[in-house]
Amino acid sequence: MRVAVINSGSSSIKFKLFEMPTKEVLSSKLLERVKSHHDGLVEIFADVGEVDAIVHRVVHGGEDFHSTTLIDDEVIEKIENLIPLAPLHNPANLEGIKIAKEMFKTTPQFAVFDTAFHNSIKKEGYIYPLSLEMYEKHKIRRYGFHGSSHSYVAKEGAKMLAKDLSELNLITLHLGNGASACAIKNGKSIDTSMGFTPLEGLVMGSRCGDIDPAIVLYMQRELGLSVDEVDMELNKHSGLLGLCGNNDVREIIDADDEKSNLAIDVMVRRIQKYIGSYMVLLEDVDAIIFTGGIGENSAYIRDRVMDNKILKEIKHLVIKTDEELEMAQECYKMVVR
Ligand code: ADP
Repeated sequence: MRVAVINSGSSSIKFKLFEMPTKEVLSSKLLERVKSHHDGLVEIFADVGEVDAIVHRVVHGGEDFHSTTLIDDEVIEKIENLIPLAPLHNPANLEGIKIAKEMFKTTPQFAVFDTAFHNSIKKEGYIYPLSLEMYEKHKIRRYGFHGSSHSYVAKEGAKMLAKDLSELNLITLHLGNGASACAIKNGKSIDTSMGFTPLEGLVMGSRCGDIDPAIVLYMQRELGLSVDEVDMELNKHSGLLGLCGNNDVREIIDADDEKSNLAIDVMVRRIQKYIGSYMVLLEDVDAIIFTGGIGENSAYIRDRVMDNKILKEIKHLVIKTDEELEMAQECYKMVVR
């Protein structure tokens, strides 16, 4: 069965065609700086040939979607209704879905949601201690992201440990430009560092992660920044980039100057704080899994994180994530079941 995986983002479209269940990659394409999603997808599908199923990445599934879903008009409408929760991502994901539906009218198409893996988080884990109305009326809560990646590396980790995933407690660290940690108990997500949006949690390439929310008010009241300027500051000018002017961890490590070293120290400390809190939530931890560009490639960062009396006792694994393969597997499961 030929499964096409589409990740239609705001400025790029990633495509991979898999033969399933053998997992063979038949072709792949990456279009960057796309101006028209329509032209991009036409270009992608021009020489692809026959496709048996298509699976789309959708960043935000809100409280509507708990698993991989067959896309119909009602599903499209629900994803549209979730745009306020993910104004940058969901519209681009929807573009991809709508164009592919026009081009492949009879081919079954599925949506895989970044948030879905975290649906197992209990209410005390996803509720923010704001007035309850903020959740009940406005749906402000922790959703969590990077679901396909945490799920994929957890399954691969179980294979490496030769155990059933349902018997394992894991801490997965997806450390790329975007970064998140996940506490996995008996194979299910019980907590994750990203929250209402992908801004919360770890120190990222250009995002600050956790900060005192009153800083946002101070920036507006005292520094006179507009809402959009604060948004830019927190999402694009913070994190590693904000601290040392660079978001490429390789170059930051090589630079070895005061600012660069501080950026790494802040990032590593934050990762350790999350691991520590997840160890308490999980009580027993079978392994810590490193993934994402930094987690997979930087032994220096892994060593820095694990250089700790308590953490030295815990096994750690390095696993290359494959969100596209995870999506293809989800799609295959839906079609053959
Ligand atoms: P994205 O979230 O954009 O998909 P990636 O998962 O590709 O990002 O991760 C990008 C990050 O990985 C960059 O900070 C880059 O510096 C880092 N990285 C890649 N290779 C290495 C390496 N060999 N050593 C250290 N960092 C690396």
